[in-house]
Amino acid sequence: MGFGSGGGADLMRKFLDEAGGFAVIDGGLATELEAHGADLKDQLWSAKYLFTSPDLIKKVHLDYLEAGASILITASYQGTIQGFQSRGFSPAESEALLRRSVEIACEARDIFQGQYLKSGSGFSEGAINLKQRPVLVAASIGSYGAYLADGSEYSGNYGQEITVETLKDFHRRRLQVLSEAGADIIAFETIPNKLEAQTYVELLLECDTKIPAWFSFTSKDGINVVSGDSMAECVSLADSCNKVVAIGINCTAPRFIHSLILSIKKETLKPILVYPNSGGEGYDPVRKDWVLSGASDDDFVSYVSKWHEAGASLIGGCCRTTPNTIRAIAKALCKGFDAGKGEAEQPIEVEKNSVEDTLTLNSTSFHNSSSNTSACSRPLLV
Ligand SMILES: [Zn+2]
Repeated sequence: MGFGSGGGADLMRKFLDEAGGFAVIDGGLATELEAHGADLKDQLWSAKYLFTSPDLIKKVHLDYLEAGASILITASYQGTIQGFQSRGFSPAESEALLRRSVEIACEARDIFQGQYLKSGSGFSEGAINLKQRPVLVAASIGSYGAYLADGSEYSGNYGQEITVETLKDFHRRRLQVLSEAGADIIAFETIPNKLEAQTYVELLLECDTKIPAWFSFTSKDGINVVSGDSMAECVSLADSCNKVVAIGINCTAPRFIHSLILSIKKETLKPILVYPNSGGEGYDPVRKDWVLSGASDDDFVSYVSKWHEAGASLIGGCCRTTPNTIRAIAKALCKGFDAGKGEAEQPIEVEKNSVEDTLTLNSTSFHNSSSNTSACSRPLLV
């Protein structure tokens, strides 16, 4: 399908319109893998499970779909061709592992949607009853600092010797492989500095990727990105690229998110996404684990309505969030939608047969069904 010039932001907006104005991103993959007994103290982090236990990754994806997520982020965040090769995989095998990360997420989506279409009802007790929503697969690309596995994605300090050209050489092939693996969108996550944002913008244009991308930055002060570079400049850079369809923040403490949404909104009209970590914790690159660094943050979910009102339309969770977090986010957003619906003069309606005409993201993301059993009365695909 075509990804027309200048139309990227419109495509995500149309997806959001079809989904009722908001969508829930999944939660922490590594956190949930650990909950199932995974040992992630490894240079490859969660990407290790692409070759040791792909079925466990698929189970976690399914957990998040049941919890109400509409966007699955693949297990490729810390999976790089260079990293896999350092573990003895050939270049071809390394690329196959990246493709596998997308396939696993697509398989989870197919299982989820197939079971719903077959049964017409929910799965397990407690599953969010939002089965008819479209589901997107976002192919994760972690920052160069994530590959280094030294915590530098949380400082943005790559040293003087690292340039845009260095980073392009590092990221180019992975972007090409993931953009042709069947995902709907590329998720550039945990971007710590302007240098890497510039790299991604240039690569998207040079590689002429056929799927759009989102840019997600990190902050540790609610003002700038973690390197100290201007958030406004980083967002403006992302906004200038017509292949970028959403811009936002991930792996940042919840208490900083509201002010960041307001500053992002000044620089772009594109949809804003936020998927914070659980807050109150810090990442120890030596232990390769999260450690408590003081009082836990306020209740994560209590912020959700405020973020949505401020302008974020894609909301989920990053490190230390779980399916329970995502379930609570979905419920909070649905509650807000239902509350606002009564004030609207005209209910939002979804035209039948409009999906293929208006969405140019992969058609496999969407399925057709004639019944609406959602607990949330927001419009769903019909
Ligand atoms: Zn995170």
